Amino acid sequence: MKNKKELGTWLKDMDLAHPLLIAGPCSAETQAQVLNIAHQLKDTDTTVLRAGIWKPRTRPGNFEGVGAVGLKWLQRAKEETGLLTSTEVANANHVDLALAHDVDILWIGARTTVSPFIVQEIAEALKGTDKIVLIKNPVNPDLSLWLGAVERFYEAGMKNLGVVHRGFSSYEKHTYRNNPEWQIPIDLQNRFPDLPLILDPSHIAGRRDLIFDLCQTALDLNYDGVMVETHHDPNNAWSDAQQQITPDTLKQMTVDLRIRVQEGDALEYKNKLNTLRTKIDVLDHQLVETLGKRMSIADEIGGLKKSNNVAILQTKRWNNVLNKMIVEGEEYKLSEDFILKIYKAIHQESIDHQNKVVTKK
Ligand code: PEP
Ligand code: MN
Repeated sequence: MKNKKELGTWLKDMDLAHPLLIAGPCSAETQAQVLNIAHQLKDTDTTVLRAGIWKPRTRPGNFEGVGAVGLKWLQRAKEETGLLTSTEVANANHVDLALAHDVDILWIGARTTVSPFIVQEIAEALKGTDKIVLIKNPVNPDLSLWLGAVERFYEAGMKNLGVVHRGFSSYEKHTYRNNPEWQIPIDLQNRFPDLPLILDPSHIAGRRDLIFDLCQTALDLNYDGVMVETHHDPNNAWSDAQQQITPDTLKQMTVDLRIRVQEGDALEYKNKLNTLRTKIDVLDHQLVETLGKRMSIADEIGGLKKSNNVAILQTKRWNNVLNKMIVEGEEYKLSEDFILKIYKAIHQESIDHQNKVVTKK
């Protein structure tokens, strides 16, 4: 698939003065809960109300959604507030029910995007409709799988598409519930500039205090919108309680976020510069993270050398590493001189790390 201009028409047609805001609870719980949240969101910049009706949970025993009855609550919320509605569909039956209840935007969850069979089934079920479909990234960091899902919808004749970046699963959890791996959506954006890109900071963060910064990064990277889990009583939500924010917090957030204005030459320049700088920040973060990982492996090697009484400096190995990196550097247009400087510094830090391990009593 190549970039297609028509992919983003649905969003342009909304003619919003700001990035698209999708908000609402992780799950629809009761009719009163859905209506309460919807009415509070009406007083914010929210255009689309989200609520999970069927919840794919990693482990059984957690709340798995209220099922089809919740679609009636979404319908009523739309009637009362004028908000568009959206929910996750994970099979053809969900699609039929969502269509019957006039859901405006369907999203494909991260656990569904990983399965080409199910994606195909959903695409077939939607054939001939003009629904807006948002495709979440797969749980694993695989751009082709993500794009493959977009292509399956495109080939089924669906042209109103968008993607949602919700982060990628990793075995070791650090700051985030799902690592952002910004490089992946940035690559996607470079290849498909007209495919609307929406951030889901809630499932990346897993906790509410990180949501603002994630949204700001996304806006600086020129994302087209955000989908934020919002609940009137987050701590007592039936699913994803730690990551939901209140409608009031959401409202304040939209005031505090720096939203980029797209007009005027000077602003255009500033916006472009900002985007490029944010891309550099993402890469710098990855650089330091990778260096940190490299040094912890050096520590392990230090321990191994210590227990086997081997000298820290292994000149032959070091020369091999250096020569290999000079050749690889050429491929990326990095001069030999630069690689030498960088690798001397890395090697020194590595030796210092190993020394510390070896001399530790
Ligand atoms: C959700 O949006 O509530 C959800 C289950 O998301 P994901 O598919 O990204 O885990
Ligand atoms: Mn959720």
